[in-house]
Amino acid sequence: MFDAKTTCVVVVGAQWGDEGKGKLVDVLAERAELVVRYQGGANAGHTVVIGDSQFILRQIPSGILHPNVTCIVGNGVVLDPETLFGELDQLAARGVDTAGRFFISDRAHLVLPYHKLLDAASEKSQKLGTTGRGIGPAYEDKYGRRGMRLTDLRRVECARAMLADRVGRANRLLEMMGSSERASLDQHVALLERLAPRLLPLTADTGVLVHRAVRSGRRVLLEGAQGALLDVDHGTYPFVTSSNTTAGGAAVGAGIGPTAIDGVLGVVKAYTTRVGNGPLPTEAEPPFGERLRELGGEFGAVTGRPRRCGWFDATVVRYAARVNGLTGLAVTKLDVLDSFAEVPICSAYRLDGESCAEMPAEVEALGRVQPIYEVHAGWQEPTGKARRLADLPAAARAYLDRLQTLIDVPVRYVSVGTRRDQIIEV
Ligand code: GDP
Repeated sequence: MFDAKTTCVVVVGAQWGDEGKGKLVDVLAERAELVVRYQGGANAGHTVVIGDSQFILRQIPSGILHPNVTCIVGNGVVLDPETLFGELDQLAARGVDTAGRFFISDRAHLVLPYHKLLDAASEKSQKLGTTGRGIGPAYEDKYGRRGMRLTDLRRVECARAMLADRVGRANRLLEMMGSSERASLDQHVALLERLAPRLLPLTADTGVLVHRAVRSGRRVLLEGAQGALLDVDHGTYPFVTSSNTTAGGAAVGAGIGPTAIDGVLGVVKAYTTRVGNGPLPTEAEPPFGERLRELGGEFGAVTGRPRRCGWFDATVVRYAARVNGLTGLAVTKLDVLDSFAEVPICSAYRLDGESCAEMPAEVEALGRVQPIYEVHAGWQEPTGKARRLADLPAAARAYLDRLQTLIDVPVRYVSVGTRRDQIIEV
């Protein structure tokens, strides 16, 4: 993706998340100097496998595994400090030194224990399938202009007063929601007093760091969490996350202008998965759904929840290509399809007897669409050793060609296994 003219690249998920962005960022980060996470919180775990080690990174960009890369958690992220320290400690225990190359925006908002209590209470009534990590309530506070940002920790007295107000409000809400849980002000104050000395040295005006890197032509990777169909504006609302996962959110959440971005790589699985509730038009019938789940290891990296699995949905990815302005596609997990005799692709939908080329806005309508499938012959050969397109079986190449034609975005990478080296650069 990087070349003389393309130095600032966004990597986005172009389905419902879990597309394997972590691996792509890991591969691309080798050539980058700065990797910035721009939205989301600690629910979206990236899994990166290096040798025999598996790293699950929830908030720290996976670029951190490259010793020469500086990593940033941007202003658009809601930060869970305890989880962050867990990740930093996990990295340190495995010999990954992060000193001097990991920074968090002083404008990023904090996820606090009261957010988690509110999340659990609202999930009982709203049933959106959230991960209960407080991310939604933290974004609600942000947009309600009562969030706590890292910069607030610089003034301890002020932070205490803010906490008293926020914890009181949270407890009133919990009571209204019929929850018996209550947040403790003392515990919140103690938590911040314990965390601030470790957090503040990592805190910086990261927008300036990213801006300077872009201006001086250094290679910058902006990394999103989740996928386009979970974007709060463009996703299957209300079964969405609470931030803009799409490429527009990358500029806002990294603290730079949109003109700084040169390219957008959309990561897609060679099939489709989603976690949580909401429609999934191409959900595969048994036993194919189970087989995709087993072969693809489709269980949430953080929650362990089984993912719902189905065939590639070109309507979804065409839409993602449009709302993200994708300039390239990375197709992951091609190897998961190796053993299937036939591989269907959903090329379009029918809705109420009419053809439907675009994603309907209403989740109820998306639940009613009928996928139109093209059935492609499977290749029934292992692809894990392929390192060039020419190494792939002809039927696998034909499958990728068809995806590229249906989406109208060039395939730039094909991933054929979990390992770092199992990738084809087209
Ligand atoms: P992310 O949040 O988009 O990074 O996705 P996850 O980390 O939740 O899921 C990606 C999972 O797929 C991880 O377990 C990866 O190791 C694995 N993975 C990534 N690319 C491939 C691939 O090409 N083939 C296979 N079999 N697994 C892959």
